[in-house]
Formats: sequence, structure tokens, C-alpha cells
Amino acid sequence: MTTQVTDHRGGVWSIAVPIPDNPLGHTLVHLLETDRGPVLIDTGWDDPDSWDTLVAGVTACGFALADLHGVLITHHHPDHHGLSAKVREASGAWLAMHAADTSVVRRTREATPDQWLDHLIAKLAAAGAPDDHLAPLRTARAGGGGRRMPGLRAALPDREIGPGELLDLPGRRLRAIWTPGHTPGHVCLHLEEEHPARQNRGFGRLFSGDHLLPGITPHIGLYEDPAESAGEVADPLGDYLDSLERIGRLAPAEVLPAHQHAFTDAGGRVRALLAHHEERLAQLRTLLSEPRTAWQLARAMEWNRPWEQIPYGSRTIAVSEAEAHLRRLVKLGHAESVPGSGPVRYQAVDGVR
Ligand SMILES: [Zn+2]
Ligand SMILES: [Zn+2]
Repeated sequence: MTTQVTDHRGGVWSIAVPIPDNPLGHTLVHLLETDRGPVLIDTGWDDPDSWDTLVAGVTACGFALADLHGVLITHHHPDHHGLSAKVREASGAWLAMHAADTSVVRRTREATPDQWLDHLIAKLAAAGAPDDHLAPLRTARAGGGGRRMPGLRAALPDREIGPGELLDLPGRRLRAIWTPGHTPGHVCLHLEEEHPARQNRGFGRLFSGDHLLPGITPHIGLYEDPAESAGEVADPLGDYLDSLERIGRLAPAEVLPAHQHAFTDAGGRVRALLAHHEERLAQLRTLLSEPRTAWQLARAMEWNRPWEQIPYGSRTIAVSEAEAHLRRLVKLGHAESVPGSGPVRYQAVDGVR
């Protein structure tokens, strides 16, 4: 175990907490000093080595775990919220999260692992996934394999993070910015204090979670929710693009993301991501000149490698991403479903150049 702690000055540190067997490598858990004791932003993946790293990191920042006053969670994903229960148990700190993600946590806890697998299988079948993709899930369902899925017993928070709320942290000005898209209740946290280096353009520092990362486009899929009714038309990509513009207008001097590394020029990064999605939506409209299911669309889309080389689990994520783009195109009136039997097929509406 190597402890990687960065002092960002002004009572802000980051601790690199490893995510086992994941190309992302680690989650950057941030520690913010307040007059009532330190507060954590996210906690990390629930794994013994990750836990040891987090505890050693808090110590390296000059605090004991028992000093922790509170924990702010940017979103419910297991690489951010995984260790929250352990942290609360060891320190007595409160846990806070946006209500939309809290309800995902609650519903996930209430659903049985089998219900989750059934939901996933039904969703993929409706998207047009072939039998060879569904077979391993059906096998897992038959063998009770859903019990190994992470996040099924995630901690329920004690407090709610309200949109736009100035958080009750003595001696600090930290404002919650609701940034749905990556998850329905994702929040960024804006430290409304002068940057310690002073020479940077912009104001304050932004803890951006997974919303704004320097070198990765965050995954935008349909919101995972086994209780989502068929008629509901959430538009996560639309939410995400709106949230990006909100962060762009904020113009923080520095961004402290939950993966990779801190960076400046938030506005430039926001513009690059907006352009990326605009280009992608235009490509998809071209691909939809012939009717395709979400699965067929995912197969035809450009990824970082050929479809044949995309690992099994990532294909499931790719289809979810294709579906989020389809939702957006349908909402904008650029695509529509084609009447017929079997998995729904979509087609572009306007004349495609
Ligand atoms: Zn995430
Ligand atoms: Zn993450």
C-alpha cells in the first residue's frame, strides 16, 4: 500500500484511494478542513486495501479518522460511496447526498439481486441484445450470481444536499451545484473562497466528482433504476449537457475531480465535452438513416476500439450510452421509433445529409 496524498493548500487535500482491477486506477477522495473537524468528499471503493489507504491518507493529512465531522458524496457510484458506511461507523460523521441519488440507493437496497438481474436482462432484450449476450446473465440469474454485484448494501445517507445550498460547514463557504447526467443526483461542490495561488483566473475551486474530468468523457447512460416505469422519459444526456453549461458559467479557477488530476480552464474542458456530444449526436443521426435498435446503433457507433474487442461488460455500458443518445435525439425531434414488433427500432426524422 502506498499512500498518495496531495496538499492543495488552504485546508484542502486529496487522497488517491485505489479501485481494484479498474483502469481508472483510483478515486481522489478530498479532505476539507473546517472549524468543526475535517469533512470528506467521497470515500472510495469498498475493499480492504482501499480502506487502509484512506485511513493512512487521513492520518497523513494530520487528522485521525475519529476527527471526521461529515462526509459529502458527489454521487452514489461504488467508487465514490463504497466506503461511506465504514467511515460513518468508525467516526460518527454524518453522510450527505442529493435526494435523487439517495432514492437510487434506497431502491437498490430494497430490490433483491435477482430483481436487478431480471431488470438488466429485460432492458438489454428490449434494446435488441442478441442471445449470446444475454446467456451469461441468464446463467448468473439461475445461479444467484446477482449477490456479488457492488452497491447492493450501500449506506443510506443521514442528510440531504439541496441544490444551490450553502453547506453548513463552520469556517468554509462550500456550495452544492446539482449536476444531473452521470447520475440523477450528482453534485459538484464549489468552494467559494479565493484560490490559494491567487494568480489563477476564475473564482474558487470546484470539486467536480465524475461530472468534469480532465481526460475522460464520463459515462452517460440511462439512469439505473429497476423501478423506472416504462412510460418515464428521463433524458440523462440532456440533463448532462445542461449541467455542463452550468459549470462553465461558474468559471472556477481550478477543478479538483474525483479521478485523474486537478486542472484549470474548466471552460475549455466544458466546451470540448459539449462539442464531443454534439458531434456524436450528428453521427448518430447519420447512422439512423436506416432503422436500428439500440444494440445495432451501439455496434455501429465509434468507440475507442472495434466492437469485437470491447469486453462483455463494456458492451452493456455502450448500449446504455447509445440509449441515452437515442433519448436525446427523440426528445429533440431528430429521431423516432419505428412501429413494428420485437425490439424497438429508431430512425432519423429529418433528411440526413
Ligand atoms: Zn460515477
Ligand atoms: Zn467515478
